Amino acid sequence: MTLVLDNTPPGAPHAFPVAAVPALPTIAGMDRVGLTAALDRIGVPAKQTRMRVNQLYSWLYVRGVSTFAAMTDVSKDLRAKLEANYSLDRPEIVTEQVSTDGTRKWLLRLPRLGHEARAPEIETVYIPEMDRGTLCISSQVGCTLNCSFCHTGTQRLVRNLEAHEIVGQILLARDRIGDWPGASPPGDGRLLPIADRKITNIVLMGMGEPLYNFDNVRCAMEVASDGEGLSISRRRITLSTSGVVPEIPRWGDEAGTMLAISLHATNDELRDKLVPINKKYPIAQLLQACRDYPAVSNARRITFEYVMLKGVNDSPADARALVKLLSGIPAKINLIPFNPWPGTDYECSDWGQIERFAEIVNNAGYASPVRTPRGRDILAACGQLRSESVKLKASERT
Ligand code: SAH
Ligand code: SF4
Repeated sequence: MTLVLDNTPPGAPHAFPVAAVPALPTIAGMDRVGLTAALDRIGVPAKQTRMRVNQLYSWLYVRGVSTFAAMTDVSKDLRAKLEANYSLDRPEIVTEQVSTDGTRKWLLRLPRLGHEARAPEIETVYIPEMDRGTLCISSQVGCTLNCSFCHTGTQRLVRNLEAHEIVGQILLARDRIGDWPGASPPGDGRLLPIADRKITNIVLMGMGEPLYNFDNVRCAMEVASDGEGLSISRRRITLSTSGVVPEIPRWGDEAGTMLAISLHATNDELRDKLVPINKKYPIAQLLQACRDYPAVSNARRITFEYVMLKGVNDSPADARALVKLLSGIPAKINLIPFNPWPGTDYECSDWGQIERFAEIVNNAGYASPVRTPRGRDILAACGQLRSESVKLKASERT
């Protein structure tokens, strides 16, 4: 595997040439059901399918190959057929930006679906830290919800991502940072021990409300967590939701990942303004769903995200109300300094105010790391993600 070295200066977007002609449909990112159907379509006999799917699955998700030619235990005949009908394309890179702190953000272009006038765009972010590497992936192009402090919320929903497009973000990130077997040291072909992996965690905290694209996100997380493939444990996958209450128990039963809740306020009056889905599913219902979330325990706590907005939700009284509200729920509190974006009226709380808030929460026994803003210089931090898909549409109308 070749790792393309990126010599772009920190912060500057690195533009990639964009393919003009839509390629063959990709099978990269598909689950076993999708791969089975793809093999059926090209006439692979039913009695062989299982074995062939296992081979493909391993090449795609253990080795990370991006050509059919590399699949050396697949017969030449079948490789040729695969090549003639399918590709192993990942989402197309429009730009890649590397922050001064090592965070990488990709603007990715997805293939157009039949009815779409333009190819939609999404963003994916990789955040390296001392003890882990987290990949923040998108589940929708834009978002139907309009949280007032979120940049993505200003972008109208363009569409849900297909399951393979969600997995495709993981494949692409592994390609780009050299996180497949044999990538380091180059070309020795070894399997990469899990301990050496760069991407250790996945958070569904990019663009979109993942529970509004439930089936595709669930299918993608099955592929991501499959021990015979990408092998990212469900305990290292966190789905963040603004509070789609009816889907929370179903997600717990069917996907069983870690859960994060975008709380941001401790009373319904304020949360209605910040996170408008609260009008439909108020705080009491949301917290009940958290109490009932399967397998929640002190070892498997729910993360409550709380964005620090100056003069809005950041007083010591708010901190005390937060502690009271969460009592009895195994919880971690994640204080997120507000990340500004062009056109917002909100400001980030002063550092002293954040520290006072954190102290009250810590004294009440909650681990409450303040999330260090990462990749601010490339607008890769929480809530700053917003692709240009809508702008393009607007310009088309004029
Ligand atoms: N839609 C999902 C997941 C994506 S947003 C959700 O809302 O949970 C990931 C996190 O970033 C959420 O907690 C969200 O509230 C927060 N966020 C959004 N805009 C932000 C901003 N400008 N600054 C800081 N955090 C923000
Ligand atoms: Fe959508 Fe989450 Fe942004 Fe709210 S915070 S608008 S749910 S992406």
